[in-house]
Amino acid sequence: MLNDLFAQRVNPDVPSALSGLFPQDTDPRAISFAAGSPNESLFPVAAMQTAFDTAIAQTGAHLFQYQTAQGNPDLRAKLAARIGKWGQVPTTADNVVLTVGGQQAIELVAKALLNVGDEVAVEVPTYVGALAAFDLYQPTYHAVPLQADGLDLDRLEETLKRHPRIKLLYTVPDYHNPTGITMSVTKRRELVALANRYDFIILEDSPYRDLGYEHAPLPAIKSFDTEGRVVFVSSLSKILMPGLRTGWLVADNDLLAAIMRVRLASDLETSNVVHAAIDAYLDANDLDAHITALKSNYREQCAAMIHALAAYFPDDISYTQPAGGFFDWVTLPEEIDAAALLRDTVIPQAHVSYVPGTNFYPDRDVHNSLRLCFTGLTPAVIDSGMHRLGDAVKGAVRG
Ligand code: PMP
Repeated sequence: MLNDLFAQRVNPDVPSALSGLFPQDTDPRAISFAAGSPNESLFPVAAMQTAFDTAIAQTGAHLFQYQTAQGNPDLRAKLAARIGKWGQVPTTADNVVLTVGGQQAIELVAKALLNVGDEVAVEVPTYVGALAAFDLYQPTYHAVPLQADGLDLDRLEETLKRHPRIKLLYTVPDYHNPTGITMSVTKRRELVALANRYDFIILEDSPYRDLGYEHAPLPAIKSFDTEGRVVFVSSLSKILMPGLRTGWLVADNDLLAAIMRVRLASDLETSNVVHAAIDAYLDANDLDAHITALKSNYREQCAAMIHALAAYFPDDISYTQPAGGFFDWVTLPEEIDAAALLRDTVIPQAHVSYVPGTNFYPDRDVHNSLRLCFTGLTPAVIDSGMHRLGDAVKGAVRG
C-alpha cells in the first residue's frame, strides 16, 4: 500500500482537525454560520489594486527579486509601530517576521519547538488550525478549560505541577476562536509569571485583537514578557483580506533565530510583491478607519445573533457574549451531540449549518457545543437562520 510509505504525521486513518469542518448544503434556503470568513463585501479591493500598481511602478523588476527572509522591511516597520501603538508590544522591525498568514506562524513555532511526544498545553476549546499544525509534531496535549475571563490559571498551574515538562502553551487571548472570550489583563500578566516560574513558552495568537466592539485592544500577553518567552502572532486576514496570506510574528533572541531557521527551510521568504503592495496600501489609506467600518458591521451582526439566541432558543442552553471578533459559542444540554443534530435534523430540516464543537478539543471528547460565525450575513438573515436553528434545537431538547 502506498499509504504505508507516508509519515505517521499524515496517517490517513486519523483525519486532520481541519478536514470536514464546513458542512455543505446546496438547498437555496441554506444559511451558513459555519465558515469563519470575513465579510468580502467589505474588502478594499479597488484600493488594493491601486496599491499593487503603485508598488510595481515604484520598484519595477527588483520588486520580484528574492528579498529578505524576515520579509519586506517597510511593512515590518509599520506592523512593529502598529503593534507598539497602545504600549502593547514594544518591538522593532528586527523582531518581526512576515508569514503566510498567522497559520504559518503557528506552524513554524510548532516546528521550531516540538519533538514527538512533547507536552503542549492548550485552552479548550481551541482553534482547530492550531491543533492541525501541532498534530503534525505528535505532541501530548494537556487541556486547560476557559473561563469567561480567559484561561483558568488555577487549573493551568495544577496541570503544570503534575506535568512540569510542558514546554508550550497556546492561547488566543482576544475574541477567541471559537468562543469569542477575551482574557483579562490581570490573567495576561499572571500567565507570563507562570511561564517564567514553570519554564514554558507562550504562543499568543491574536488575529482578532483589533476587532473589539467596545474598546481599544488590551495589552498583549507579549507586553508583559520579561524573558523573551512569548511569541506574538497576528494577521491581516481578519482586518484586511485573507487572500493576501499575510500574518506576522514577534519573537526575541534565540527563539527568533530558531524560528528563522525553520522558516528558511519551509519557504525561504514570503511574497515581497504582496508585501510591498500592502505597504503601499498602508501609505495611501487609513487602516484604522477601515477597521472602524468593519467593527460597526460586525457589532450589529453579533447583536442580531445574541438577540436571536435569547429569543428563539430553549432556556437550557448557554452561550458566550463576545465583545468582538467573529464567533459565538453555544453549549447544548450534555446529552445532545451537536454533530448528529446538524447532520440528522438541522441541515435536512432547517437548512442551517454551524461547526460542531468536537474538533476544537484535542481529544475530541466533548460533543454538545457548536460554533456560530456571524460575519457573512445581514442581521435580517441572521435572525431568520437563527429562528430556524432555535426551533430545531428546541425540538431536540424536548425530544
Ligand atoms: N488563528 C486563529 C485563532 C484563527 O481564527 C485563524 C483563522 N481562522 C488563524 C490563526 C489563521 O488565519 P490566517 O492564516 O488567515 O492569518
